[in-house]
Amino acid sequence: MYRCKLLILLFFAIFIASCSTSPTGRSQLLLKSDAELEAQARATFSAYRATLPLSTNRAKIDFVACVASALVAELDPPYSDFEWDLAIFEQNQVNAFAMPGGKIGVYTGILDVTDNADQLAAVLGHEIAHVTSKHVNERASRGSLSGIGIEALAVIMGGGYTGGAYTAQQAMQAGVALGMELPMSRSQETEADIVGLRYMAKAGFDPRESVKLWKHMMTMGGKKPPEQLSTHPADETRIENLISEWQVTLPIYNQALADGKHPDCKKNWN
Ligand SMILES: [Zn+2]
Repeated sequence: MYRCKLLILLFFAIFIASCSTSPTGRSQLLLKSDAELEAQARATFSAYRATLPLSTNRAKIDFVACVASALVAELDPPYSDFEWDLAIFEQNQVNAFAMPGGKIGVYTGILDVTDNADQLAAVLGHEIAHVTSKHVNERASRGSLSGIGIEALAVIMGGGYTGGAYTAQQAMQAGVALGMELPMSRSQETEADIVGLRYMAKAGFDPRESVKLWKHMMTMGGKKPPEQLSTHPADETRIENLISEWQVTLPIYNQALADGKHPDCKKNWN
């Protein structure tokens, strides 16, 4: 009898611990441990760093670091306490990602389609919002990780980091397992848009630039658009959603400007 009561108590404790509310008020089922996901992200990020060419262009590194640090400075605990890691990969891909535990990866291809710091802040704000909204945990809790990604992750986690023991492709597949290279669900993407806009506005980046960016992406030919667009086209609905958020984000932006926040991140290269 006592044992049974204990089990029931334990069940409720687990249930309560795993039910959470996202930043925009969605209820989330989070079954994975943050510590475990962060350890996986650390290993995957190391694999990316070891296998993809890192940019050596000082101007590009400074520009991305300027935008990223202005954004993470506006996060709430525990994310404000993270030591955020940033890697800039010399790749033509138009993409960026953020991982649990505070890892940000930017492909230099995205710098060719973002006209200014505000537009890069729109992309990075969106990616950081996936982390602070625990979207990887939510996705993993639904058991939708791809088999091949898990295998690659097992190679990296289990085999240990032996320096070049695995390929760039394996690193990418591990990234897929953590949801780095794939779009999230529609509701998670919308949430990342909304939360990301708030971060950029709080940091003093103009949220209106996000619409210019996504419109630009819509008309972009040749290059593959970032994950946000690859399965969820930047249709009129997305643009309308971003614009409808301005009533919330423009006052935040104006307050940031009044507080003297205007990150001076310049594109000093051709
Ligand atoms: Zn996204």
